[in-house]
Amino acid sequence: ALVVRHRMRSSGKWARALAILQDFEDKCGTPIGKLRQVADAMTVEMHAGLASEGGSKLKMIISYVDNLPSGDEKGLFYALDLGGTNFRVLRVQLGGRDKRVVDQEFDEVSIPPHLMTGSSEALFDYIATALKKFVATEGEGLHPASGRQRELGFTFSFPVRQLSISSGTLIKWTKGFNIEDTVGQDVVGELTKAIEKVGLDMRVSALVNDTIGTLAGGRYYDRDVIAAVILGTGTNAAYVERAHAIPKWHGLLPKSGDMVINMEWGNFRSSHLPLTEYDQALDAESLNPGEQIFEKIISGMYLGDIVRRVLCRMAEEAEFFGDTVPPKLKIPFILRTPDMSAMHHDTSSDLRVVGRKLKDVLEISNTSLKMRKVIVEVCDIVATRGARLSASGTFGILKKLGRDTVKDGEKQKAVIALDGGLYEHYSKFSSCMESTLKELLGEDVADNIVIQHSNDGSGIGAALLAASHSQYLGVDES
Ligand code: BGC
Ligand code: MG
Repeated sequence: ALVVRHRMRSSGKWARALAILQDFEDKCGTPIGKLRQVADAMTVEMHAGLASEGGSKLKMIISYVDNLPSGDEKGLFYALDLGGTNFRVLRVQLGGRDKRVVDQEFDEVSIPPHLMTGSSEALFDYIATALKKFVATEGEGLHPASGRQRELGFTFSFPVRQLSISSGTLIKWTKGFNIEDTVGQDVVGELTKAIEKVGLDMRVSALVNDTIGTLAGGRYYDRDVIAAVILGTGTNAAYVERAHAIPKWHGLLPKSGDMVINMEWGNFRSSHLPLTEYDQALDAESLNPGEQIFEKIISGMYLGDIVRRVLCRMAEEAEFFGDTVPPKLKIPFILRTPDMSAMHHDTSSDLRVVGRKLKDVLEISNTSLKMRKVIVEVCDIVATRGARLSASGTFGILKKLGRDTVKDGEKQKAVIALDGGLYEHYSKFSSCMESTLKELLGEDVADNIVIQHSNDGSGIGAALLAASHSQYLGVDES
């Protein structure tokens, strides 16, 4: 009798764990009808954000980029890309129409975590110092034409109220950054101060979001690129809007008639979003509660932590990992999205990658195959929701542009440049995102919409925009 009772009790726990899983799955549901509602809500907010400053959760930031790269850009330019956990510095020699990128050199530097939440001065000093070191390696290789000041395209992947192509004030930090004294400051001013302090002679010619850089980099190689989406540590999108469709733009109508808009879609939210109690808890405990809700259910910084939270609940309420809760499971962000991705992609019959990750990351051993399957299922639910929602946002952009239907039987090709570590490395995520976009578009339209991986296009894009806004424009290279 004792044995039977014990079995019943443990099967009761198992049933409780499965109930938690089922409930989570139900609340994360993204049936196609819901995705259409989300896309519609996205286009409504796009209109509102374009109509007036502060008119929407979507800031729809005017980038001051009204001319995308043509291919004619020439000369040596630098780019600096700050946004996630690393920053990159890049030196590129642009050779004009036929030659394009003649040569490029880059370096990647990781940002010490304490600088992400320290002082503005410390962060920019660190960046300027690394930049100076990189410039010092110009040596035999690439160097600017003699007598010319070096010029830089600054990719700064946070919401910035752009004041011109080469200046803008930080609206707020996102992702892992939180440095109070930068908010409201012109980030080009901050960078320039630091550059001068280290004794570097360099001018910031363009300040761009990574979405804008990716769009510019994509357009350089393909005229059909109309939008860019970043799925990385954070998430965001930019697209080419008709300037006359931007009521809040009171400047001159650009010659091209176009203006690139940085949507800052990470801050989107809607009652149609499938949010769970885990998302609410994650948000409440985050660096920026109440902000970036779309980002917190889609992007790489958060997905692993959502998984952790669900597993933690199973441990607490269903003794999923035995009669104590594994202590590591309580540590925020200990389970990173790359770990989650590795577990989700485990194809071994005994799910040994899952077993190894549980052991190495969470110090949980002796998991049964049945348990591992449940864990993979949690990863699948979280990744699928994020991927399908990012497809729905992309579909919203295409709808806003009227590219969601075939006009007069005419097939008009459109390319969306995609970048970011999540998209690049989490293949179940990216393939789900792409297939969902096809599902939303329908076969006929889907044939004309191409998703193009733009590998680190944002760096090149920033350099290209620095070139097209160079102080030496029209001056011959001497
Ligand atoms: C930022 C955006 C950025 C995106 C992707 C978000 O957190 O607000 O400006 O484009 O991350 O890097
Ligand atoms: Mg990036």
